[in-house]
Amino acid sequence: MTLASMKDMLERAKRERYAVGQFNINGLCWVHAILDAAQEEESPVIVAASDRLIDYLGGYRLVSALVRTLVEEKGMTVPVALHLDHGKKVESCLRAIDAGFTSVMYDGSHDPIDVNIRDTKTVVDYAAPHGVSVEAEVGTVGGMEDGLIGGINYADLGECVRIVEETGIDALAAALGSVHGKYLGEPKLGFAEMEAISRSVGIPLVLHGASGIPTDQLRRAIELGHAKININTECVTVWTEQLRRTLAEDAETTEPRKILTPSRDAIKAAVVAKMREFGSSGRAAVVAESLDAQAR
Ligand SMILES: [Zn+2]
Repeated sequence: MTLASMKDMLERAKRERYAVGQFNINGLCWVHAILDAAQEEESPVIVAASDRLIDYLGGYRLVSALVRTLVEEKGMTVPVALHLDHGKKVESCLRAIDAGFTSVMYDGSHDPIDVNIRDTKTVVDYAAPHGVSVEAEVGTVGGMEDGLIGGINYADLGECVRIVEETGIDALAAALGSVHGKYLGEPKLGFAEMEAISRSVGIPLVLHGASGIPTDQLRRAIELGHAKININTECVTVWTEQLRRTLAEDAETTEPRKILTPSRDAIKAAVVAKMREFGSSGRAAVVAESLDAQAR
Protein backbone atom coordinates (compact mmCIF):
# COMPACT_ATOMS: atom_id res chain seq x y z
CA MET A 1 0.00 0.00 0.00
CA THR A 2 1.31 3.46 -0.84
CA LEU A 3 1.43 6.22 1.75
CA ALA A 4 -1.85 8.10 2.25
CA SER A 5 -2.75 11.59 3.45
CA MET A 6 -4.40 11.67 6.86
CA LYS A 7 -7.55 13.45 5.67
CA ASP A 8 -9.78 10.40 5.13
CA MET A 9 -8.23 8.51 8.03
CA LEU A 10 -9.13 11.29 10.43
CA GLU A 11 -12.58 12.08 9.05
CA ARG A 12 -13.57 8.44 9.39
CA ALA A 13 -12.02 8.19 12.86
CA LYS A 14 -13.94 11.26 13.99
CA ARG A 15 -17.24 9.87 12.65
CA GLU A 16 -16.66 6.49 14.29
CA ARG A 17 -15.33 7.93 17.57
CA TYR A 18 -11.79 6.63 17.71
CA ALA A 19 -8.40 8.26 17.17
CA VAL A 20 -5.43 7.46 14.95
CA GLY A 21 -2.10 7.63 16.76
CA GLN A 22 0.76 9.78 15.55
CA PHE A 23 4.04 8.23 16.64
CA ASN A 24 7.25 10.21 16.20
CA ILE A 25 10.41 8.61 14.88
CA ASN A 26 13.81 9.11 16.47
CA GLY A 27 15.77 6.68 14.34
CA LEU A 28 15.46 3.53 12.27
CA CYS A 29 14.24 1.22 15.03
CA TRP A 30 11.27 3.54 15.63
CA VAL A 31 10.11 3.16 12.03
CA HIS A 32 10.31 -0.65 12.26
CA ALA A 33 8.54 -0.73 15.61
CA ILE A 34 5.69 1.62 14.61
CA LEU A 35 5.04 -0.05 11.24
CA ASP A 36 5.17 -3.57 12.74
CA ALA A 37 2.74 -2.54 15.48
CA ALA A 38 0.30 -1.04 12.94
CA GLN A 39 0.37 -4.11 10.71
CA GLU A 40 -0.07 -6.50 13.64
CA GLU A 41 -2.94 -4.44 15.09
CA GLU A 42 -4.49 -3.85 11.65
CA SER A 43 -4.56 -0.18 12.52
CA PRO A 44 -4.15 2.95 10.40
CA VAL A 45 -1.09 4.87 11.59
CA ILE A 46 0.60 8.26 11.28
CA VAL A 47 4.40 8.08 11.27
CA ALA A 48 5.80 11.50 12.09
CA ALA A 49 9.16 13.22 11.85
CA SER A 50 9.56 16.34 13.95
CA ASP A 51 10.93 19.27 11.96
CA ARG A 52 13.20 19.94 14.95
CA LEU A 53 14.93 16.57 14.32
CA ILE A 54 14.90 16.51 10.54
CA ASP A 55 18.62 17.21 10.06
CA TYR A 56 19.52 14.67 12.73
CA LEU A 57 17.32 12.10 10.96
CA GLY A 58 19.03 12.78 7.61
CA GLY A 59 16.68 15.25 5.89
CA TYR A 60 13.18 15.18 4.39
CA ARG A 61 14.13 13.08 1.36
CA LEU A 62 15.85 10.40 3.40
CA VAL A 63 12.97 10.11 5.87
CA SER A 64 10.46 9.90 3.02
CA ALA A 65 12.48 7.25 1.15
CA LEU A 66 13.06 5.29 4.36
CA VAL A 67 9.41 5.11 5.39
CA ARG A 68 8.19 4.44 1.83
CA THR A 69 10.74 1.68 1.32
CA LEU A 70 10.02 -0.01 4.63
CA VAL A 71 6.26 0.12 3.96
CA GLU A 72 6.96 -1.67 0.67
CA GLU A 73 9.52 -4.14 2.04
CA LYS A 74 7.21 -5.15 4.86
CA GLY A 75 4.29 -5.61 2.44
CA MET A 76 2.17 -3.33 4.60
CA THR A 77 -1.56 -3.46 3.93
CA VAL A 78 -2.68 -0.89 6.52
CA PRO A 79 -2.92 2.83 5.66
CA VAL A 80 0.21 4.77 6.66
CA ALA A 81 0.56 8.56 6.56
CA LEU A 82 3.98 10.22 6.69
CA HIS A 83 3.59 13.49 8.57
CA LEU A 84 5.87 16.44 9.32
CA ASP A 85 5.35 17.36 12.98
CA HIS A 86 5.67 21.05 14.01
CA GLY A 87 6.88 22.41 10.66
CA LYS A 88 8.77 25.50 11.78
CA LYS A 89 8.66 27.45 8.54
CA VAL A 90 6.46 27.50 5.46
CA GLU A 91 9.58 26.53 3.52
CA SER A 92 10.08 23.39 5.68
CA CYS A 93 6.55 22.24 4.86
CA LEU A 94 7.02 22.81 1.13
CA ARG A 95 10.29 20.89 1.17
CA ALA A 96 8.68 17.98 3.03
CA ILE A 97 5.84 17.90 0.48
CA ASP A 98 8.35 17.93 -2.40
CA ALA A 99 10.19 15.05 -0.71
CA GLY A 100 7.02 12.95 -0.59
CA PHE A 101 5.52 13.52 2.88
CA THR A 102 1.77 12.91 2.64
CA SER A 103 0.87 15.26 5.49
CA VAL A 104 2.38 18.31 7.17
CA MET A 105 1.78 20.38 10.26
CA TYR A 106 2.55 24.06 9.93
CA ASP A 107 3.05 25.46 13.42
CA GLY A 108 2.56 29.22 13.32
CA SER A 109 1.12 29.22 16.84
CA HIS A 110 3.81 31.57 18.16
CA ASP A 111 2.90 34.25 15.60
CA PRO A 112 -0.06 36.64 15.78
CA ILE A 113 -3.17 34.93 14.41
CA ASP A 114 -3.23 36.94 11.15
CA VAL A 115 0.32 35.85 10.34
CA ASN A 116 -0.44 32.26 11.38
CA ILE A 117 -3.48 32.22 9.05
CA ARG A 118 -1.57 33.77 6.14
CA ASP A 119 1.32 31.31 6.39
CA THR A 120 -0.93 28.29 7.01
CA LYS A 121 -2.89 29.24 3.88
CA THR A 122 0.33 29.31 1.82
CA VAL A 123 1.05 25.75 2.97
CA VAL A 124 -2.52 24.57 2.24
CA ASP A 125 -2.42 26.10 -1.26
CA TYR A 126 0.78 24.19 -2.01
CA ALA A 127 -0.32 20.96 -0.32
CA ALA A 128 -3.81 20.60 -1.80
CA PRO A 129 -2.84 19.85 -5.45
CA HIS A 130 -0.37 17.25 -4.10
CA GLY A 131 -3.15 15.53 -2.12
CA VAL A 132 -1.25 16.31 1.09
CA SER A 133 -3.17 16.99 4.32
CA VAL A 134 -2.37 20.00 6.53
CA GLU A 135 -2.63 20.46 10.30
CA ALA A 136 -2.34 23.86 11.99
CA GLU A 137 -2.03 24.96 15.60
CA VAL A 138 -3.79 27.64 17.61
CA GLY A 139 -2.79 28.45 21.20
CA THR A 140 0.34 26.99 22.78
CA VAL A 141 0.84 23.44 23.98
CA GLY A 142 2.86 23.67 27.19
CA GLY A 143 6.23 22.09 27.89
CA MET A 144 8.87 21.61 25.21
CA GLU A 145 7.68 22.82 21.85
CA ASP A 146 10.01 23.63 18.97
CA GLY A 147 12.87 23.20 21.41
CA LEU A 148 11.51 25.99 23.62
CA ILE A 149 10.11 25.49 27.10
CA GLY A 150 6.89 27.43 27.29
CA GLY A 151 3.66 27.79 29.25
CA ILE A 152 0.19 26.81 28.19
CA ASN A 153 -1.92 29.28 26.20
CA TYR A 154 -5.49 28.14 25.62
CA ALA A 155 -6.67 28.26 22.03
CA ASP A 156 -9.18 31.05 21.36
CA LEU A 157 -12.48 29.85 19.88
CA GLY A 158 -12.78 32.74 17.41
CA GLU A 159 -9.21 32.19 16.17
CA CYS A 160 -9.87 28.46 15.72
CA VAL A 161 -12.95 29.16 13.60
CA ARG A 162 -11.08 31.75 11.53
CA ILE A 163 -8.07 29.55 10.73
CA VAL A 164 -10.30 26.63 9.67
CA GLU A 165 -12.58 28.77 7.50
CA GLU A 166 -9.88 30.96 5.98
CA THR A 167 -7.29 28.27 5.19
CA GLY A 168 -9.14 24.99 4.55
CA ILE A 169 -6.87 22.91 6.83
CA ASP A 170 -7.73 19.24 7.41
CA ALA A 171 -7.03 19.03 11.15
CA LEU A 172 -6.60 21.50 13.99
CA ALA A 173 -4.37 21.30 17.04
CA ALA A 174 -6.18 23.53 19.52
CA ALA A 175 -4.04 23.82 22.65
CA LEU A 176 -6.26 23.11 25.68
CA GLY A 177 -3.94 22.33 28.56
CA SER A 178 -1.82 19.45 27.30
CA VAL A 179 1.99 19.62 27.51
CA HIS A 180 4.86 18.07 25.58
CA GLY A 181 7.16 15.86 27.63
CA LYS A 182 6.42 14.59 31.12
CA TYR A 183 3.50 15.90 33.20
CA LEU A 184 4.07 17.24 36.69
CA GLY A 185 0.93 16.09 38.46
CA GLU A 186 -2.41 15.30 36.84
CA PRO A 187 -3.01 16.79 33.36
CA LYS A 188 -5.96 19.19 33.23
CA LEU A 189 -7.58 19.47 29.83
CA GLY A 190 -10.15 22.16 29.07
CA PHE A 191 -13.10 19.97 28.12
CA ALA A 192 -15.70 22.75 28.06
CA GLU A 193 -13.54 24.78 25.64
CA MET A 194 -12.83 21.59 23.68
CA GLU A 195 -16.52 20.90 23.16
CA ALA A 196 -17.21 24.46 22.01
CA ILE A 197 -14.26 24.48 19.59
CA SER A 198 -15.04 21.05 18.16
CA ARG A 199 -18.67 21.97 17.55
CA SER A 200 -17.73 25.27 15.89
CA VAL A 201 -14.91 24.10 13.60
CA GLY A 202 -16.36 20.73 12.52
CA ILE A 203 -12.97 19.28 11.42
CA PRO A 204 -10.97 16.63 13.33
CA LEU A 205 -8.98 17.92 16.32
CA VAL A 206 -5.43 16.85 17.21
CA LEU A 207 -4.21 16.24 20.74
CA HIS A 208 -0.52 17.08 21.21
CA GLY A 209 1.43 16.08 24.29
CA ALA A 210 -0.81 13.08 24.97
CA SER A 211 1.84 10.91 26.65
CA GLY A 212 0.81 10.57 30.28
CA ILE A 213 -2.83 11.66 29.87
CA PRO A 214 -5.03 9.07 31.63
CA THR A 215 -7.29 6.85 29.50
CA ASP A 216 -10.57 8.36 30.75
CA GLN A 217 -9.43 11.86 29.70
CA LEU A 218 -8.25 10.52 26.32
CA ARG A 219 -11.64 8.85 25.79
CA ARG A 220 -13.38 12.11 26.59
CA ALA A 221 -11.12 14.02 24.17
CA ILE A 222 -11.98 11.47 21.46
CA GLU A 223 -15.72 11.81 22.20
CA LEU A 224 -15.27 15.58 21.84
CA GLY A 225 -13.78 15.43 18.34
CA HIS A 226 -10.11 14.44 18.68
CA ALA A 227 -9.31 12.02 15.84
CA LYS A 228 -5.50 12.23 16.06
CA ILE A 229 -3.45 11.77 19.20
CA ASN A 230 0.31 12.41 19.24
CA ILE A 231 2.63 10.18 21.23
CA ASN A 232 6.37 10.60 21.59
CA THR A 233 7.42 10.80 25.25
CA GLU A 234 6.02 7.37 26.17
CA CYS A 235 7.94 5.70 23.34
CA VAL A 236 11.25 7.41 24.09
CA THR A 237 10.81 6.57 27.78
CA VAL A 238 10.29 2.81 27.26
CA TRP A 239 13.10 2.78 24.70
CA THR A 240 15.53 4.36 27.16
CA GLU A 241 14.45 2.29 30.16
CA GLN A 242 14.85 -0.94 28.21
CA LEU A 243 18.24 0.17 26.87
CA ARG A 244 19.45 0.79 30.43
CA ARG A 245 18.20 -2.66 31.52
CA THR A 246 19.78 -4.40 28.54
CA LEU A 247 23.17 -2.78 29.16
CA ALA A 248 22.99 -3.48 32.90
CA GLU A 249 22.09 -7.15 32.34
CA ASP A 250 24.94 -7.77 29.89
CA ALA A 251 27.82 -5.39 30.47
CA GLU A 252 30.07 -7.33 28.07
CA THR A 253 28.12 -7.24 24.81
CA THR A 254 29.09 -4.88 22.01
CA GLU A 255 26.65 -6.24 19.46
CA PRO A 256 24.33 -3.38 18.43
CA ARG A 257 21.52 -5.67 17.33
CA LYS A 258 21.51 -7.42 20.70
CA ILE A 259 21.58 -4.08 22.49
CA LEU A 260 18.88 -2.35 20.46
CA THR A 261 16.35 -5.07 19.61
CA PRO A 262 14.78 -5.25 23.08
CA SER A 263 14.30 -1.45 22.97
CA ARG A 264 12.70 -1.71 19.54
CA ASP A 265 10.36 -4.39 20.93
CA ALA A 266 9.53 -2.09 23.85
CA ILE A 267 8.48 0.71 21.46
CA LYS A 268 6.37 -1.73 19.48
CA ALA A 269 4.58 -2.92 22.63
CA ALA A 270 3.92 0.69 23.68
CA VAL A 271 2.51 1.56 20.23
CA VAL A 272 0.26 -1.54 20.25
CA ALA A 273 -1.08 -0.53 23.68
CA LYS A 274 -1.82 3.01 22.45
CA MET A 275 -3.63 1.75 19.32
CA ARG A 276 -5.89 -0.37 21.54
CA GLU A 277 -6.43 2.55 23.91
CA PHE A 278 -7.31 4.92 21.04
CA GLY A 279 -9.65 2.33 19.46
CA SER A 280 -7.83 2.29 16.10
CA SER A 281 -6.94 -1.43 16.24
CA GLY A 282 -8.78 -3.48 13.62
CA ARG A 283 -9.91 -0.38 11.67
CA ALA A 284 -7.34 -0.55 8.85
CA ALA A 285 -9.31 -2.61 6.33
CA VAL A 286 -12.27 -0.22 6.15
CA VAL A 287 -10.00 2.83 5.82
CA ALA A 288 -7.86 1.12 3.16
CA GLU A 289 -10.97 0.14 1.18
CA SER A 290 -12.24 3.70 0.97
CA LEU A 291 -8.76 4.95 -0.01
CA ASP A 292 -8.63 2.29 -2.77
CA ALA A 293 -12.06 3.29 -4.03
CA GLN A 294 -10.93 6.91 -4.33
CA ALA A 295 -7.75 5.92 -6.17
CA ARG A 296 -9.74 4.02 -8.83
ZN1 LIG B 1 3.26 18.74 19.42
